[in-house]
Amino acid sequence: MSKLKSSESVKVVVRCRPMNEKEIAGGFGRIVDIDAKLGQILVKNPKGGPGELPKTFTFDAVYDCNSKQVDLYDETFRPLVESVLLGFNGTIFAYGQTGTGKTYTMEGLRTDPERRGVIPNSFEHIFTHISRSQNQQYLVRASYLEIYQEEIKDLLAKDQTKRLELKERPDAGVYVKDLSSFVTKNVKEIEHVMNVGNQNRSVGATNMNEHSSRSHAIFVITVECSEIGLDGENHIRVGKLNLVDLAGSERQAKTGAQGERLKEATKINLSLSALGNVISALVDGKSTHIPYRDSKLTRLLQDSLGGNAKTVMVANIGPASYNCEETLTTLRYANRAKNIKNKPRVNEDPKDALLREFQEEIARLKAQLAKRGVGKRKKKNRKRQGGEGEDEIEDDDGDGEEDEGIKNEPEYWREQQEKLEREKKAIMDDHSLVAEEKQKLLREKEKKMGDVQREREASETLATKIKAMESKLLVGGKNIVDHTNEQQKMLEQRRQEIAEQKRREREMQQQMETQDEETLELKETYSSLQQEVDVKTKKLNKLFAKLQAVKAEIHDLQEEHIKERQELEQTQNELTRDLKLKHLVIENFIPLEEKNKIMNRAYFDDEEDQWKTQPITRIEGNQQMMKRPVSAIGYKRPLSSYAKMALISRSDPRYTAENILLLELDMPSRTTRDYEGPAIAPKVQAALEAALQDEDELQVDASTFDPLRSSSARKSKSRPKTGRKIGPSSVGSGTTLYPQSRGLVPK
Ligand code: ADP
Ligand code: MG
Repeated sequence: MSKLKSSESVKVVVRCRPMNEKEIAGGFGRIVDIDAKLGQILVKNPKGGPGELPKTFTFDAVYDCNSKQVDLYDETFRPLVESVLLGFNGTIFAYGQTGTGKTYTMEGLRTDPERRGVIPNSFEHIFTHISRSQNQQYLVRASYLEIYQEEIKDLLAKDQTKRLELKERPDAGVYVKDLSSFVTKNVKEIEHVMNVGNQNRSVGATNMNEHSSRSHAIFVITVECSEIGLDGENHIRVGKLNLVDLAGSERQAKTGAQGERLKEATKINLSLSALGNVISALVDGKSTHIPYRDSKLTRLLQDSLGGNAKTVMVANIGPASYNCEETLTTLRYANRAKNIKNKPRVNEDPKDALLREFQEEIARLKAQLAKRGVGKRKKKNRKRQGGEGEDEIEDDDGDGEEDEGIKNEPEYWREQQEKLEREKKAIMDDHSLVAEEKQKLLREKEKKMGDVQREREASETLATKIKAMESKLLVGGKNIVDHTNEQQKMLEQRRQEIAEQKRREREMQQQMETQDEETLELKETYSSLQQEVDVKTKKLNKLFAKLQAVKAEIHDLQEEHIKERQELEQTQNELTRDLKLKHLVIENFIPLEEKNKIMNRAYFDDEEDQWKTQPITRIEGNQQMMKRPVSAIGYKRPLSSYAKMALISRSDPRYTAENILLLELDMPSRTTRDYEGPAIAPKVQAALEAALQDEDELQVDASTFDPLRSSSARKSKSRPKTGRKIGPSSVGSGTTLYPQSRGLVPK
């Protein structure tokens, strides 16, 4: 720990869960054998012949089905969390097939102290450490996020539909933009944060098991610690602990509808396979390019893999025979990860330490409060001029006694209030004053009281704000003398020592094992040729067996690779088919011109890992807005100069750029007329009127009597109304009594 800058390997431990009820009931065989002392795992191939040797893997530590959560914590995780408290970055990964105990290892059963996982245990560890610290100030905050189908979700955000982006800054590295983080003061608060996150995680998922097996959950605890260094300056160290429950490592079941299936193939396990690729690239020593950028997970945890962090990987496996293949895959994966080298260092005085911001803000607020208090009181004291005020002045001047000042605050305000009350009462009782003057004075006093009240409230809010902020900065050393506490600390230390001892023993055993053969060979002297032959034959047998094991391993790996290749080919085929369909649609239904336009605007955004189109108003390469062509200024469309000239000289519509036609509504002319009743000729009218006259109104002029005509005249006059039968005689006489036919109405 003291060696900064030195490199260290990723620690890999393996944990095998117990057989579950189903497996026991199903009578599945156990194929995993664990030698905890040696840190070895032996896996028997259930299909292999009797002569086939089990495959052996060696790790930093291995835990069998009887392992306790606390054992794992003390031996493997405690040192890592301890480093985080010292300002290192730390990461714990849980890797393995679904149902092998990743979540059990990370979270466990929170209700049962015995079965709590790493995350709750680390809460306890961190806050206990802080409570025992001396002369240090801590700030602890937590974030919780999830990666599902290459989308990052903040599990603590109010809006759970939002997706977050990854950003990169040269000083801070890769980070999640707008990720919420909560400052927590104790175990309860941080547990609450975790519960909220877990609830949000399960809310969106229809099938929680399936969802959690396909998403990665990352709980992040940031511990900032400020301490006065040897140089007398305040120094801040920041340690970040990533607790990662990875998606299930099993090959995803290849079922489901076409679209879903494709999405699955391209997205679901992208982060996990990218993790595998990153590990391979880091380990093989030849790769110059590490494909961190291939997935969100590897980008986010870049530091934990070959960077500035201490990393522990827990590989979880199942013991039953039907899991054999996945178990071997997991163990091989873990075996590779062992060789990753990290370069952890203490993060001292980073620019973005929240703790510093807190300290500065508190100092600012305190200064503000002090100014208020001091200002008031000095004024008051000056007024009083009594010895009484002396102490208070000293109080105010005393540097480290601002707290005292804050404590006395309520008393001071009460005094002020009381004083004003007294004065008010005095005015009321003073009979020498005129009523009007009294009122005025009273009003003044009221106003003053209001001022005092407001002032008081402002000071109080300031004080509570300071208190709230200070309460978030944790300081220890309070119950350091506590006897049980001391004992507990001792106990923990012992446990730690034992764990350390165990670890060293295991390392030594592993070393001995490898050196055994060589040393034996060197020391051995043979008394006879026969003996030498015997010993060497034995040795040869041993080596031959080893060779066989290696060969078998090579064979297995080859098969696995073939399988993987076939799967990749299948995925590729499907993607190609999909691509062909898209091509077909584009070639046949999208005009070439449009296609080219879009192609010219399209570019690939590395940050977001997707294609985007440039805004249409920008010309490629040139960041200027597209201008109107010079020839079109003032016109609706571009015009040639000839057209412009022609436009001025003649009014030829050929060159009229605008308003060539008046396009108003063209109303049709009328072809009908309104109906008017039939027209009656004036004579007919007169005759009709005469006929309709009453008899006695008739004025007969006998002087003009002509017996011949009179009969006809009388006849005609007495004839009733219609006048149709007035007689042909009158027609013959040339008078047109009848209306004439009008025929068609002329247009
Ligand atoms: P994963 O997260 O890998 O899918 P889980 O952690 O959900 O798997 O574990 C599956 C089941 O196995 C759970 O019911 C869990 O309680 C149980 N289990 C896993 N590991 C252990 C263990 N070491 N001891 C006891 N039970 C375990
Ligand atoms: Mg799980």
